[in-house]
Parts: sequence; C-alpha cells; structure tokens
Amino acid sequence: MATLRSLNPTTAELLGEYEIADAKTVEEAVAEARIAAEWWSGLAAGARRDRLLTWKRAIAAGSDELATLIHEETGKPVGDALLEVMLAVEHLNWAAHNAGTVLRRRRVRSGTLAADQAAALEYRPLGVIGVIGPWNYPVYTPLGSVSYALAAGNAVVFKPSEHTPGVGVWLARAWATAVPEHPVLQVVVGDGTTGAALVGATPDKIAFTGSAATARLVMAACARSLTPIVVEGGGKDAMIVAADADLEVAARAAAFGGFGNAGQTCAGVERVYVERAVYQDFLQRLADLAGNVKTDAYGPMTTPEQPEIVRAHVTDALAAGGRAVVGGVESIREPYVTPVLLAEVPEESAAVTEETFGPTLVVNPVADLAEAVRLTNASKYGLAASIFTADTKRAAALARQIRTGAVSINSVLGFAGVPSLPFGGVGDSGFGRIHGADGLREFSRAQAVTWRRFAPLIDLMRLDRDPVALDRARKLFRFRHAR
Ligand code: NAD
Repeated sequence: MATLRSLNPTTAELLGEYEIADAKTVEEAVAEARIAAEWWSGLAAGARRDRLLTWKRAIAAGSDELATLIHEETGKPVGDALLEVMLAVEHLNWAAHNAGTVLRRRRVRSGTLAADQAAALEYRPLGVIGVIGPWNYPVYTPLGSVSYALAAGNAVVFKPSEHTPGVGVWLARAWATAVPEHPVLQVVVGDGTTGAALVGATPDKIAFTGSAATARLVMAACARSLTPIVVEGGGKDAMIVAADADLEVAARAAAFGGFGNAGQTCAGVERVYVERAVYQDFLQRLADLAGNVKTDAYGPMTTPEQPEIVRAHVTDALAAGGRAVVGGVESIREPYVTPVLLAEVPEESAAVTEETFGPTLVVNPVADLAEAVRLTNASKYGLAASIFTADTKRAAALARQIRTGAVSINSVLGFAGVPSLPFGGVGDSGFGRIHGADGLREFSRAQAVTWRRFAPLIDLMRLDRDPVALDRARKLFRFRHAR
C-alpha cells in the first residue's frame, strides 16, 4: 500500500505516515457508509442529536491536542488553531440542536385548486455525502459540511487535504469512539487521486472546498453521474473604507484579515478600497501595523507552492506600476513571508484579480463608495466583503449592492462565528451553502407529500372529465386570475 507522509511545513519533520486509500478502498468506504446511513437516518432526531453532542464534547475535550496537531500540520500558531476548533464546535453544536426543527415535517397550505388535498413538506437525508477538504482550515472548513451533513441524517466519507491527513484521522477517530455503532463518519486519506475516487464512487452529493480550478474538475466528474455538488471555492475579498470610518479600527481589521493565517484564508481580506479623503491616513496606519507584525503572529506558508504564487503576484503588481509600501519580493523567505503592503496597483494585475493566499494586501484609493462597490464587484470571485463606516444604515444599503455571499460591517469575518448564518459564494467562489438552516437543507432533499382529504367538488384529475365541471373551473379560474 502506498503511504502519504505528513510533514511539518516549518521544520519538514515527519509527523505521520498514512495509508493512501485507493479506488477500491474508497468504494468500500462508500458502500459501508450506505449501510451506516440507513441506520443513522432511521434514528429519531433526538437520538442523532445526542450522538452528535457526544462527538462535540470529545472534540472540545481534546481541543488542545487537536489544536497542536493543526499547528504541526499547517504551521499556524496554536492559538489560531484553537480558535478554529472553537468556531467549528460552535457550528457543530448549532447543527446538532437545530436539525430536528429545521428539517422536520410541516403542514403547508394546499391552495384553492387542490383544496381536496392536504399537503406536507419534509427534508429527508440524501444518503452518503462525500466531503473533500482543503488544508488552510482543516477543521473549521470541512466540518462546515461534515457537521451539517451528519445532522441532516447523512453518513459522510471525508477526504482531508493531503497536507492535513492527521487532522482528518483525528476527527474520525473521535467520532468512532463517540458513535461506535456504525461507521457514519469515515476518513479516506490521499491526494487528488483519492478525491477523484471518492467522486467516482458516486456518493449522493459532493461537498467540495478548495480552489476554483479543482472545483471545475470535480464538477465535471460529478456531471457524469449527475451527482450534485456544493462548491466552497476561493475568494478575493475586498474591504471598503469610507471617509467617515474609524480608521484605526479599519486598519487593524485589514491587518488581521489580510495577514492572519499568513493570508491563507478563503474569506480573508486581499483588496482594500479607501475613499480618497482618508486614503493617506489609512495607508500610513496600516503600514505602521504591517511593519511591526512578526511572522510568529501568523505562521509560515503551509504548502511549498504558495510562496511562488505570492512572488508572482508581487512581482507583477510592481512591474505594472504598483508601489510597495511595506516589504516586497524580498519578504518571501520560505517557508515564511513577512507582510507585503502594496498600493495603487492597477486593477488588471494578478494581485487584484487572482487569489494570492499570502500575507499581502493591495490598497487602492477610490473617488467614492459607488466606485468602491463597482471595483469590489468587478472580481470573478464573490465570497465575502467588509465595509467600514460610521453610517451603518448606509452600509446596509451598500451591502445589498455587493455581489458576495457575506458582508461584514465594521469587522472582518464577522459571520464566521454565527452558526445560524449560511456561508458560501457566487461566481468562482462557488455555489450552495453550508452553515445555518440553508446548510442543513443543502444536505437534504425536500420531499412533498399530499393526501386526499375528500372528493373534490370539481374533479378535473380524471380521464372522463365532465365538461360542465371544466366549464365551472374555467369560470372560477378567470374570476381569480384574469381580472
Ligand atoms: P485544492 O483545490 O488544491 O484542493 C482541495 C481538495 O481537493 C484537496 O483535498 C485535494 O486533494 C482535492 N482534489 C484535488 N484534485 C482533485 C480531483 N481531481 N478530484 C477530487 N478531489 C481533488 O485546494 P487547497 O489548496 O487544498 O485549498 C485552498 C483553496 O481552498 C483556496 O482557493 C481557498 O480559498 C479555498 N477555500 C475555500 C473555503 C470556503 O469555504 N469557500 C474554505 C477554505 C479554503
């Protein structure tokens, strides 16, 4: 059996060796998951909730160990890793407590034409969900799909990123101890080949989180079997700073959103548009912060490819006429990248149009907020955005004009810890939603059930339809709709 070596990105130390799941192993896992799904979906909602909460307690109790593992596999500081676990557990808790209510059977009105029918709607599980995860938030991100899929009554086969297999295996072990009856959550380890095998094993839905380029491949493979897919893709999130904003708060948020996790955050800040009146003041404050940030505050680049992408974007931005206010190409000292603050970068350059995923920020001045919104929306991505202003009413109106799945006003990533809110993007940032009630429904099929209550006065649903009945129906119809 081939093995996958998990290496510490900072020290290159070998952290663990894992058997790579080949196509046969993945198929077997999906087949076992089908049996587990029958058992799991047959449990009462309360019984599923109790088991999910047992798993939650195991994750919370083991959070120090899990955070250390995340830190070792990704390089991010232990504190950031712990925050990630805390956020993921908050979502798991919400999904466990709310699935019963959100998905339960409810009566709906049957309407005039079908008055003889009673009608009910229920959200039923899909069966087996294949979850394919990224490395940058190896707990929070995949659990956004895993927790909601499980809570909706599905079994899950999870393929963690090849950079963070240990974290995936830890989560599945904790599950197997908490819910030993059936393998409702399994992990298959490997790279894209294992991911492709998971898609090929035709689970009932794929929840993919990763880059838009891989999403296209996965979606094309899903098309063969018409397997539905939810895509959580990348981002090029913009922050808008209005002239009336608290500039110190905005600058601190830009630094956190841009440099946190070494910029390797799908919904991190990559672009900042500042109203010209306060542009220099904001840029100076941000430069002061950026110049003082040490890489221990956010860790190394997790994969060897990332520094190259950062180098390409910084080089391109400077060649196109952008200005390096803090750092530059010399900031890239693998595996670390010190903060890079670029200003007045042409909107067509890769540093503005492509996901950089490094501790870099592009800050550009705008004439007004209308221009800021226009440039924010000019991206092919649309994951999240933030607006800083003293006028929150105006910000709410601006939010409606922004083409993203989420908007934070006077903070960055404000939505991340609100489990009742859906999360997902538009365009190259993906489609479908995880988290919240929408996240539970994403892993369900709406089932409509009707039952006849009495013989209708005007019965049109028969082959020997009475012309008099049809005429009555026609009059009624015209009276209701043609006036
Ligand atoms: P990636 O696209 O390289 O890989 C994602 C996953 O897909 C990995 O597990 C990989 O093994 C698997 N994969 C690769 N080829 C495959 C194939 N042909 N078939 C099936 N699976 C395959 O992404 P990454 O580098 O791991 O993660 C970073 C990206 O993820 C960034 O673009 C980031 O913005 C995005 N991301 C998005 C969210 C979100 O919620 N929207 C969250 C975190 C990360």
